[in-house]
Amino acid sequence: MDKLVSLAKRRGFVFQSSEIYGGLGSVWDYGPLGVELKKNLTERWWRSMVRERDDIEGIESAILMHPRVWEASQHVSQFTDPLVDCRQCKNRFRADDERIKGTPGEATGQCPVCGNKGTLTEPRMFNLMFKTFMGPVEDEAAQIFLRPETAQGTYVNFLNVMQAARQKMPFGIAQIGKAFRNEITPGNFIFRTREFEQMEMQFFVKPGDDEEWFEYWHERRMQWHKDLGINPDKLRYHAHGPDELAHYAKRAEDIQYEFPFGWQEYEGIHNRTDFDLSRHQEYSGKKLQVADPGSSERYVPYVVETALGVGRLFLVVLADAYREEEVEGQVRVVLGLHPSIAPIKAGVFPLVKKDGMPELARTIHADLKTRFPVFYDDGGSIGRRYRRQDEAGTPFGVTIDGETVAEHTVTVRHRDTLQQDRIAMDQLATYLTERIAG
Ligand code: ATP
Repeated sequence: MDKLVSLAKRRGFVFQSSEIYGGLGSVWDYGPLGVELKKNLTERWWRSMVRERDDIEGIESAILMHPRVWEASQHVSQFTDPLVDCRQCKNRFRADDERIKGTPGEATGQCPVCGNKGTLTEPRMFNLMFKTFMGPVEDEAAQIFLRPETAQGTYVNFLNVMQAARQKMPFGIAQIGKAFRNEITPGNFIFRTREFEQMEMQFFVKPGDDEEWFEYWHERRMQWHKDLGINPDKLRYHAHGPDELAHYAKRAEDIQYEFPFGWQEYEGIHNRTDFDLSRHQEYSGKKLQVADPGSSERYVPYVVETALGVGRLFLVVLADAYREEEVEGQVRVVLGLHPSIAPIKAGVFPLVKKDGMPELARTIHADLKTRFPVFYDDGGSIGRRYRRQDEAGTPFGVTIDGETVAEHTVTVRHRDTLQQDRIAMDQLATYLTERIAG
């Protein structure tokens, strides 16, 4: 993890928020390469979950919602973690923190930071939603929440979308957006943060068809991660036992990745039943039902949700791509990112800064950058320039040398195999475009 965090900062993938002020706890910023990688990941998800499907529509609902939404969804009453304080060192923990020995609130409970016994308070419930006020009056009536999940913005728009898009059951609604949780023990870099982004899709089905659709999405989402090039040996399912299931869920399976700190969830597939829509129907007084074409009955749909964290996916992709290898007696750090998600697709390098090479390299660079992100670099030895791009995950290096000037061909170096191909200049864009697709 230390190596990943340091590479992420050095190469401009991820920076700590407000770093010059000492940082803000568990909030992170995406740098120039990070924002490109993140966009590539969200676009890939959007393409496969929305654009390529006839039965899923996209939306973007607001972060701020009517406060009754969170009462209906039970986030006000249930979205809590048990919290304990150490009276001695003032640190806070989740009561289920594995580092706590003994029972908090009793003499046996031992603080994992200061080591004192009997200083931990009884667990008390702490709501994870961020509160703020809408309008100029800071009183209870004006209190609203920053959404802790995008799903509720989808549920309240369910009928709007169905009617506007003329969808028929079963169909889904997808959205990508920010969510906020005041996590008590955040950490592990961007794994658990207080502000994060989710890619969630709610699939509405007829009650009784939910289990079949659950199976479908369960398979489908795992395949998506494999297609992204994630090492399948590091992927597995984890089924939620009865004590792990969220208050709304009938069945839940996580897709886990073996992070450097162990197996952890990064996507969840949930059978949320008709819980959310029924509750919104009850709290809003508006019918959230559809007609069954087979009979004259109306029903509240069941929901199968797929919920993926963008930051967690980003971390999976980085951790999975990172490798160190020895080349000619030196350690080479490589991010073996799938070319389709790499932030920069090709480096353009004039071998030397004379003999017409920089001019030709500039022409090639200008042409390529209208098609995909490329990086021009004429600083330092060619070996060092290659290494810098290896670390950034750039799949191709285009070198302009004497032969380019004489014969209008360039060398294309492949990041993973180190193989070098001689390509005609006028074929270069096509050659690279074909290899970047995916
Ligand atoms: P966890 O048990 O790790 O807190 P969760 O089960 O509460 O996660 P869900 O509510 O199912 O998570 O959210 C769906 C996805 O959103 C998660 O799989 C994860 O990728 C992402 N996510 C949830 N909380 C966070 C967070 N604090 N920071 C980053 N990503 C998060």
